[in-house]
Amino acid sequence: MTGDKNHKGYSLKVNKGVEQPSSVSEEALQRYKNIKQKPLIIDDYIEGIRSGHRTILSKAITLIESSLPDHQETAQEIIERCVPFSGNSIRVGITGVPGVGKSTFIEEFGKHITQKGDKLAVLTIDPSSQRSKGSILGDKTRMELLSADPNAFIRPSPSSGTLGGVARKTRESIILCEAAGYNVIIIETIGVGQSETAVHSMVDFFLLLMLAGAGDELQGIKRGIMEMADAIFINKADGDNLEKANIASQVYKNALHLLPPAESGWTPMVDVCSAVAGTGISNAWNIILNYRDLTKKNGYFDKKRMLQLKQSMLETINRQLNEDFYNTPVIQATLPQIEKQLFQSQITSFAGARKLIDIYIKKLKGQDG
Ligand code: GDP
Repeated sequence: MTGDKNHKGYSLKVNKGVEQPSSVSEEALQRYKNIKQKPLIIDDYIEGIRSGHRTILSKAITLIESSLPDHQETAQEIIERCVPFSGNSIRVGITGVPGVGKSTFIEEFGKHITQKGDKLAVLTIDPSSQRSKGSILGDKTRMELLSADPNAFIRPSPSSGTLGGVARKTRESIILCEAAGYNVIIIETIGVGQSETAVHSMVDFFLLLMLAGAGDELQGIKRGIMEMADAIFINKADGDNLEKANIASQVYKNALHLLPPAESGWTPMVDVCSAVAGTGISNAWNIILNYRDLTKKNGYFDKKRMLQLKQSMLETINRQLNEDFYNTPVIQATLPQIEKQLFQSQITSFAGARKLIDIYIKKLKGQDG
């Protein structure tokens, strides 16, 4: 940074508690003022993101979510340039059925985190919003207080695309948020199964919120989701519900004990909390920090991230090969014929698949030569 903040010519006033814009150049500030009028160039995005400018971060994520080829191209360039600045965070997945108290919990939890000086980004994956226009995770009114917190950034789920596509966009958004200095990333989703697996594949720590007095089946939580959890918190442990919550906590502790030990070396924790009363929130955060310390020490933290990166790359290959295969004209023309043979028992499903793949490979080779 050139220049001294106390210098006469320095026109920026910095309010206490507001992020210091020390890394923003005068030139960049001038550009931000013109944001609405002028389209941003890639350098603007990078500079804006790196200096923690929330509007620019938001705009960049909008590009990631856009299906326009132009936007995608710009987004990919931005992501590539942000990658070297990413990774320095703890990524926490939070799930639970609608009504369990996720947004109330994240609001309290978020406040706790930002008050400690950390910067928090909350991204959501809501599969319901992709199927219909309606979203189970709700509209913009969720987490109102946190939205106004200068150290928090909240982004609702993209409303179109397949779960795989949305998961990819979320992974990319995580990179931008980290490059913008957010060192705690929460990925929120609802307890419906598939989206949990997607979130689990991109976070370091997975927190499951549950209610007392309702069995797993009643809460729609599949056993597999419980097995993914690094911690289970029984929410709404307040008033008359406190005792029930403590009993449920014991039941889940016993259930988790039956699971085989995790590769992380971590024993999943079970406890109670009340998002409304604010109890158990700091405990949840301490548990996450303990998990991070343990897994950083034993190497599992980095190992898991590497595995996630590899898995994400392989998934992308699968998806793109799949798309390319079915979009190939000769495959589109041959598929109905092979289907006919299949239905008339002239061919097995395996032989049919082999034939189509051979045709596809031949076509690829033809392109090459
Ligand atoms: P979400 O659908 O999982 O995001 O759940 P919400 O955060 O919207 O909460 C659903 C309802 O439960 C709201 O009416 C909240 O006020 C209430 N709620 C959330 N947490 C608690 C809690 O700890 N105790 C009690 N008594 N109510 C809660």
